[in-house]
Amino acid sequence: MTDDGVDLARARERLRARLADVERLLAGQTALAAEIAESGRDANVDDEHDPEGSTLAWERQQAAALATGAAAERERLLAALARVDDGTYGRCEVCGRPIPAGRLEARPAATRCVEHAR
Ligand SMILES: [Zn+2]
Repeated sequence: MTDDGVDLARARERLRARLADVERLLAGQTALAAEIAESGRDANVDDEHDPEGSTLAWERQQAAALATGAAAERERLLAALARVDDGTYGRCEVCGRPIPAGRLEARPAATRCVEHAR
């Protein structure tokens, strides 16, 4: 526990668990994106005019968007783990006040208090 009442051991555990989830998701998305790209090449489709082609393009975009989101979340979680190690975890980066435990539980990678999150 820090003076702010943040249980760092639990926070680290939570962050690692989320990181594992995100990395699993990321690996799945990367594989899916490769699969979609592969099937697109095999069919030699015209993305603009072939109905199947536009579906593939859409799927490719969705996979890419998910992968981008997961990659960003992974960065946030890694940054949060680094803050646990350097002792700044659980403090708002704007006002420096402790972020409420409930908020950290819901959003372990939060860098700001509720007031400054907007
Ligand atoms: Zn704040």
